[in-house]
Amino acid sequence: MDAKQDHERMCAAFDEWVKDENTHWLSEHDAAYQGFMAAWEMRSDEMAGLRETARLAERFARAKGRYHSEHSSCDLMERFGVPCVRPGDEPEMVKCACGDTYPPDSYGAGFMAANGGVCENCDMMNGGGNG
Ligand SMILES: [Zn+2]
Repeated sequence: MDAKQDHERMCAAFDEWVKDENTHWLSEHDAAYQGFMAAWEMRSDEMAGLRETARLAERFARAKGRYHSEHSSCDLMERFGVPCVRPGDEPEMVKCACGDTYPPDSYGAGFMAANGGVCENCDMMNGGGNG
């Protein structure tokens, strides 16, 4: 297919994309658009890559609500190498019955793993089995 036809197709795809109700994400759209253009122009391994891009762009356009919009926009931006901080990216915390939580690679989490899921505080309160 010739380049002009190709370009028209891309423009149409992008127009569809930005018509979506999620266009209040203007700055992200700008970043995504630049990435979109860069990726389009670089096209080395194109059609497969474009299909994946189109899939991510469509998912972004169809995403409902802030949470899904953020995640799908991140998927799209990361595809273009644009850094993106996702919501809810914290590692899953290790949680004790007392309500204390520890990051998975922390001393506290290690203590719990070695003590049947009981945190250091609870272990102390329980007298450590010497009580
Ligand atoms: Zn505890």
